[in-house]
Amino acid sequence: MKKVLICDPLAKEAVAILKNAGFGVDEKIGLNEEELVKCIGDYSAVIVRSATKVTRKVIEAGKKLEVIARGGVGLDNIDAACAKERGIPVLNTPRASSISVAELAIGVMFALARLLPQADASVKAGKWEKKKFTGFELYGKRLGIIGIGRIGQEVAVRAMGLGMKVTTYDPFGCCSPTVQAPLIDTCDLDALLKGSDIITLHVPKTKETTHMIGKKQFDMMKKGVVIINCARGGIVDEQALCEALTSGKVRGAAIDVFEKEPPEGNPLLKMDNVIVTPHIGASTVEGQFRVGTEIAALVVERLKS
Ligand code: NAD
Repeated sequence: MKKVLICDPLAKEAVAILKNAGFGVDEKIGLNEEELVKCIGDYSAVIVRSATKVTRKVIEAGKKLEVIARGGVGLDNIDAACAKERGIPVLNTPRASSISVAELAIGVMFALARLLPQADASVKAGKWEKKKFTGFELYGKRLGIIGIGRIGQEVAVRAMGLGMKVTTYDPFGCCSPTVQAPLIDTCDLDALLKGSDIITLHVPKTKETTHMIGKKQFDMMKKGVVIINCARGGIVDEQALCEALTSGKVRGAAIDVFEKEPPEGNPLLKMDNVIVTPHIGASTVEGQFRVGTEIAALVVERLKS
């Protein structure tokens, strides 16, 4: 019987799909490289989310490995080059969490505009500071979306529904017709930075996107701009962001992803005008269900072929 190793939490329906297909399934959550190297030799497939790293050592020890599966978007925790060298396919579920991440970006946009976390904390502390919590409407504001792929497009559709003006920058991507491309203004990065009231990032982490928003880019932005990063830590230079928040250039920021996770000691955690969340972009019941069941079905298909 072929065996599948699950290394990060997966929806119970996903585990059922694998078992019903006749595979042995072991769930070993939170293994480090050494532990994974020791046990990987027994398995035909390994399924991870974003936490477990499938390194070269792990892949080389996986003598029976027929497939490496990453539930979610991005392959930054898989040594894809090594897998390719050894002819092991790497599967993922790039669309399964797009709506969840887009809804988080829209949700934190409202939270930043209406100072919801601060107002909540104030009332719970026994205060009634109506004037202090005068926010702003999203209606009519210009949203700059950097990266108009799967998630960026879901954000664009929702933002247009709110009456926002949408500008995008993406030198490689293009909108599907469902995003009503003509309503979206595309431009170069500098123009987006100069013209947007709110900027949200939806690019992968690559050499080019690492620190693509730093001091020089903050200097170009409107005073009082709002920044949202639900993509990957390190796309926004955290130190430059702290400085821009302190100077008032950036009015507020929502950060779901950090250069180092968890972000112990990160100065952003101490700033009142920052909303921080623990990399929960894909963490919805629907998103988890979709990621788990899609990746399990792909693994079954592969192991049975
Ligand atoms: P995608 O590949 O569909 O879209 C990414 C877009 O970025 C593409 O259109 C691409 O052309 C564009 N791009 C690449 N390099 C660029 C550059 N230098 N400048 C401008 N645009 C560039 O990916 P997606 O599914 O929309 O996901 C986007 C990112 O969201 C992922 O890479 C992932 O890191 C992140 N994500 C985060 C969470 C979370 O939990 N917070 C969950 C899922 C995905």
